[in-house]
Amino acid sequence: MITQEKYRSKVKKLLADGSVKMVIGYSPGSTADRRRPLFIRSFEEADQLVLDSNCIANLSGYLVTEGLLSDEKRVAIFLRPEGIRSLNILAAESQLNVDQIIIFGFDSIGREVNSLPGEHADEFSEFIGSIKENPPEKSREPLLYQLEQMNPQERFAFWKEEFSRCIKCYACRQSCPMCYCRRCVVDSNQPQWVNTSSHTLGNFEWNIVRAFHLAGRCVGCGNCDRSCPVNIPLRLINAKMSEEVLGSFNHFAGMSTTQEPVLASFKKEDSETFIL
Ligand code: SF4
Ligand code: SF4
Repeated sequence: MITQEKYRSKVKKLLADGSVKMVIGYSPGSTADRRRPLFIRSFEEADQLVLDSNCIANLSGYLVTEGLLSDEKRVAIFLRPEGIRSLNILAAESQLNVDQIIIFGFDSIGREVNSLPGEHADEFSEFIGSIKENPPEKSREPLLYQLEQMNPQERFAFWKEEFSRCIKCYACRQSCPMCYCRRCVVDSNQPQWVNTSSHTLGNFEWNIVRAFHLAGRCVGCGNCDRSCPVNIPLRLINAKMSEEVLGSFNHFAGMSTTQEPVLASFKKEDSETFIL
């Protein structure tokens, strides 16, 4: 079991010796089972740090906040396995320099882990153990099986119903560590690539475009799903896309800081079933 004091004192030590300018972690939230991001720069702030099974949000997206790493100082961050994988992708996509990051890795049920995911994860400067993360059969969403049993018309009707509730708030995008563009293409209206209205066509366009944008990049952290105010099961689309990418290209997103993006690279052995 993780002891809060152990991590608070680790954080204080990093701040005291000047190893980092900030530590990103979790603090108590608005209810007993919620946690807030915490940006620690002082001993007082370190005393607010909590680490337990409610710390489920993937915090890695905060690392690409404009200007945060531009002074070349280091930042430490608490990350679950999915967070470490998304950090790997951010590094592979040249969004940050891993030498500036210190990782405190922990697993989803609040225990320390014994190994890190990603073959090159030990490039990171400090971590608590590592994870033997295999491609995810682990907890497949039961609804995915049900969707696969449906015929195309039934599946279309299912998603039409789900997407009809989308209000285009873009909370899914804002909470996703893989959506780091300062200006998203959907915010552009000259030309307008994706319809901004909340109607069936616009909602399909938005959600399908986003699913493809995340293909081979989504780490399954669930930030998008949890942030959707109308509870659209976005995890199903992302999980299905991840399985397809794994099956077709043997690509499990975020396994290293040098992993090539699956949709921007080519191997001779790649399946060609999609070429008509
Ligand atoms: S699409 Fe959702 S589950 Fe995938 S990385 Fe982004 S926030 Fe996480
Ligand atoms: S968070 Fe939900 S409602 Fe908001 S844009 Fe995304 S899918 Fe639509």
